[in-house]
Amino acid sequence: AKAHDRGKCVLFKDDMRDKILNSIQMSSLLRTALDQNLFSLVYQPILELNTMTVSGVEALIRLNDSDGRPVSPMVFIPYAEQHGYISSISEWVIKTAAQQTSDWRRLGFDNLRMSINLSGKCLTNSAVVNTLQKYVKACRLKPEAFDLEITETAIIEDLDLSLNILDELKALGFSISLDDFGSGYSSLTYLNKLPIDTLKIDREFISQIQNEEDELHLLSAIINLAHQLGLRVLAEGVETETQLNYLIRQGCDLAQGYYFCKPVPSEEAERFIASRGFN
Ligand code: C2E
Ligand code: CA
Ligand code: CA
Ligand code: CA
Repeated sequence: AKAHDRGKCVLFKDDMRDKILNSIQMSSLLRTALDQNLFSLVYQPILELNTMTVSGVEALIRLNDSDGRPVSPMVFIPYAEQHGYISSISEWVIKTAAQQTSDWRRLGFDNLRMSINLSGKCLTNSAVVNTLQKYVKACRLKPEAFDLEITETAIIEDLDLSLNILDELKALGFSISLDDFGSGYSSLTYLNKLPIDTLKIDREFISQIQNEEDELHLLSAIINLAHQLGLRVLAEGVETETQLNYLIRQGCDLAQGYYFCKPVPSEEAERFIASRGFN
């Protein structure tokens, strides 16, 4: 589905109730959501495949429109990036995720890592470094508690500046993942240049695994290449046991997806983490 259609934002949902929000409605929705704290975060567990325990969670933002119907972040995040809302939304996400991480620390989930999606727009302004440091400090956490998920499309807009900001974040102790690898603009050139720790293989790739006997040469090559570069490999969108077994055999390090757990509110994530154990 397309997020933008001449200023109209198409809301796509699984059912047939697609709804169109025009630019004015979208702006007003985002402003209200920021003023009245209407955003929420859901958390999807990430599993360490060696131990099958939880190594962290990815925070994903949620928003309902005034009728209570969900608006996809794939629609409102790009809109927010283009209309000046993204830094406020990012700050809200960072603050909320940091508070949750600190709550979980208090519950004893010691090394659980919080993955946050950082919009590329944030990487063109060094303010994000201060914002991250501010909430890490306020919640008495260490940067190591966070993993910042970035995409290549974002970075290549202003490579030099983004690289500087990423190097700074990396030096502070934040860990960095390259999200959606294998989709769209993926280019091997950046793998060497970017200070990344983890390669997240895009769901598109994972969905190609249909049988355990499949030979997906490109997928194997990506996993091997990542390992040779000293990166960890995370498979996203794992939906079946077949895919899981395949990935384990290929030496993939981490996985997340509906097969394990959907993105869920904090209490539910907490129960999942407690039942699986964490590392
Ligand atoms: P993403 O970062 O690639 O997130 C993965 C998306 O895949 C999420 O969709 C998640 O709910 C979904 N997913 C997870 N496991 C499975 C699975 O097994 N099968 C399938 N079919 N889907 C799965 P979601 O939450 O709708 O987010 C969509 C995109 O919106 C994200 O893609 C990310 O680019 C953006 N986004 C979400 N939250 C934030 C945020 O807090 N900040 C920013 N800047 N972007 C965000
Ligand atoms: Ca992500
Ligand atoms: Ca992704
Ligand atoms: Ca994506």
